[in-house]
Amino acid sequence: MDKSYNHKEVEERIYKLWEDTGYFNPDNLPDAKKRKPFCIIMPPTNANGNLHAGHALVITIEDIMTRYKRMKGFKSLWLPGLDHAGFETQVVYERKLEKEGRSRFKMSPEDLYREILEFTNSNKSNIKSQTRKMGASCDWSRENFTLDENIIKTVYETFKKLYEAKLIYRGKKIINWCPKHQTSLSDLETKDEERTEKLYYLKYGPFTIATARPETKFGDKYVVMHPKDKRYKDYKEGQKIQLEWITGPIIATVIKDEAIDMEFGTGAMTITPWHDPVDFEIAERHNLEKDQIIDFRGRLLSIAGEFSGMKILEARPKIIEKLQAKGLVKKIEENYKHTVKTCYKCNSLIEPQIKKQWFLKMKPLAKPAIKAIEQDKIKFIPKHYKKIILHWLKNIIDWPLSRQIVWGIPIPVWYKGEEVFIGENPPEELGWVREEDTFDTWFSSGQWPFATLKSKEGDFKKFYPTDVMETAGEIIFFWVARMIMLGIYATKKIPFKTVYLHGLVLDAKGQKMSKSKGNVINPLDITDKYGTDALRIGLVMGNTPGTSLSSDENKIRGFRNFSTKIWNASRFVLMNLEDYKKVKMTAKDKKKVADFKKKAKEITKLMDDYKFYRAAEKIYGYFWHTFCDKIIEESKKDLAGENRASAQNMLLEILSGSMKILHPFMPFITEEIYQALPLKNKKKSLIIEDWPK
Ligand SMILES: [Zn+2]
Repeated sequence: MDKSYNHKEVEERIYKLWEDTGYFNPDNLPDAKKRKPFCIIMPPTNANGNLHAGHALVITIEDIMTRYKRMKGFKSLWLPGLDHAGFETQVVYERKLEKEGRSRFKMSPEDLYREILEFTNSNKSNIKSQTRKMGASCDWSRENFTLDENIIKTVYETFKKLYEAKLIYRGKKIINWCPKHQTSLSDLETKDEERTEKLYYLKYGPFTIATARPETKFGDKYVVMHPKDKRYKDYKEGQKIQLEWITGPIIATVIKDEAIDMEFGTGAMTITPWHDPVDFEIAERHNLEKDQIIDFRGRLLSIAGEFSGMKILEARPKIIEKLQAKGLVKKIEENYKHTVKTCYKCNSLIEPQIKKQWFLKMKPLAKPAIKAIEQDKIKFIPKHYKKIILHWLKNIIDWPLSRQIVWGIPIPVWYKGEEVFIGENPPEELGWVREEDTFDTWFSSGQWPFATLKSKEGDFKKFYPTDVMETAGEIIFFWVARMIMLGIYATKKIPFKTVYLHGLVLDAKGQKMSKSKGNVINPLDITDKYGTDALRIGLVMGNTPGTSLSSDENKIRGFRNFSTKIWNASRFVLMNLEDYKKVKMTAKDKKKVADFKKKAKEITKLMDDYKFYRAAEKIYGYFWHTFCDKIIEESKKDLAGENRASAQNMLLEILSGSMKILHPFMPFITEEIYQALPLKNKKKSLIIEDWPK
C-alpha cells in the first residue's frame, strides 16, 4: 500500500474494476437465481445541466441502500435513468437563447426541438460520467431515458386506457397561463406571492365594487352578491341595470351566488370569468357568457377599446385616469395586501386563461391511492409525510396535461372536425390533424417505475412493486403522489413499498444554495479535492430524513481526515500481517472481536430501519476511537511478543469487518483496502462480500 491515499487514482481504477465484474447487473451476481429481489428506481436526472449537491445526496443514499442489500444477499437492482424534463429543460434552454440574443418565438418548432435534443444529448454523457464519479453502483445496462421509444409506448398505452375509461377529457376550462413562457401550468407549477398593491373602489351603477385589477374589468357585465346579503335584498337575480362603464354604457345583470365573500369590499362584485378561476366557476354555475380581455401574450384585446394592444401594467394607470375623469373612482386604498400566483420559473404574474386542454380526472385515481396509504401498504420515512400526502390526495383537482411547449412527448391525439382519434399514428384516410401540445413532463415520469421495468423482459415480474422510492420531499406531490396513482391504475399494484424523502442540502449558514448567492457546493469540485468517499459520508452523517442538511467544504475536509485515518490504520495492520496465519485467539482478543460483532449487529439494525445517519456515526466513532485509538495502540505490545499471531488474527478480523460496514458509505477506499487483505475465500470484489452477521 502506498504511503498516502491517492483518491483520484484509486477511484478511477476501482470504478473500472466494479464495472468489469459486472455485479452492478443483478443477473450477474453469484447465485443470482437464489437471491430475493431488491429494487430501487433512480429518480431520472434532468438532462439539462451538471450534478448539484442534491443529486449527490440522492446518489449517496440510494447507493448505500443498494450496496447494503447486495451484501445482505439480495438480488439488488438500482435502475438508472435520465429525464428530458420538459418545461424545466425548455426554460434552461430559453435562458441560453436569451443570452445569445435569440428567442424561441423566432424559431420553427422543429428547429427548437432539434436544438434542445442536441443540448440534452450532450448533457447526458456528462451526467453519466458524474454519476459514476459519485460511485453509483447502478446497472447501466438497464439505463432508460424518458424519450426512449419503449417509455413513450407505455405512456401512450396508459393515456389510451385512461381515455377509454373516460378519465381523460378535453375541456375548455380555466388554466394557469404564464405569458412569458407561453404555456399552461398545473397548480404545482405556480407559487403564491404576497404583494402590496392599490385597491380601487369603482362606481358600477348603483353599486361600488373593489378591484386590484381594473384592467380586467372591460367585459364585466354581471354584478354578483351573496343571496343572504341584506344590503342587496331589493335586487333580484337576473335584474338588468343600465350603467356607465369604462368605454361607454352597458347593461349589467344581477347574479346571486354563495361564493361571494360578504366581508370583502362592499359585498358586491363584478366577474371576469375568462381570467379568474372563482369567477369562472360562478359563470359555469349560472351559465353566463365569458369574454376574453387579455391575449396570451398579456396584452389587452379590442374589447378594451382605445387601450387595446397595451400590456396590462402599462394600461392600469391610464384606465384609472379615464375612470377618474368619468367620476367612476370612489376611493383608492393604497396598501392592499393580497396573494397573487406567479410562474415558479420566471416569477411572471400568472394570467388565468380559458383554453381547450386535455385533463385527467384525479378523484377516481386518488381513491385507491388513499386506501393503500391509509392501510400502510406504502410506508413513509419520515412518517409525517403520510399525513401530508393524504391531505393533498383528498383535496385533489383535475390535472391539466397539455403544455404548449415543443420539448416534450407529443399528445397522441388526432382531430378531424369533431372526430378524435387516439394513437401514435393517424388513421389511414386523409385529413387528420395532429394535436400540437405535449404532455406535462410529470405525466411520463409519473409512470417511471413500471415503464422502466417493462423495458426488459422479465424485470417487471421480478422487481415490481419496487422496494424503495427515494427522492426529495419537495416533489412529493409533483412526483410521488402521481407515481402512486398512475402505478396503481396501470398495474393494479403499488409501485413501491417504502418512500424515503430527504431534505434540502443547505450551505453552512442554513441557506438555500443558489448561483446568485454564490454559496453553491459543486460536488464534482469537492470530490476532486477531498475524494468521493469524504463527500458521501459527509452528506450522510447528521442527515436525518426529511430535514435539511447544512453542508460546507470544512465539514467535507474533516471527513477527508477520516479517509486518511482509515488508510493509515489499514497500512499499519497490513505491515504487520506478513507472517499471518490463522490461529486460535487469546481470550482478550476474542473479547475484542465479540465487541465488534455486537457493534455490527447494532449497525445492521439501524441500516434496516433506514437510519443511515446513525449507522454512519456508529461505525465512524467505533473505527476512529475504539479501533484506531485503543485496539491498535494496545496491540503494539502483543505484536512484538508471544501473542503476535493472536493479535494479527484479531486485527484482520476487525479491520475486514469494518471495511464491509463502511463500504456502502465509503465504497472506494474500503474496496482498495479489501483488495490488499490476506483473507481466505476472498471475493472478486468487496461489493459481493457478506455483510457481517
Ligand atoms: Zn414563466
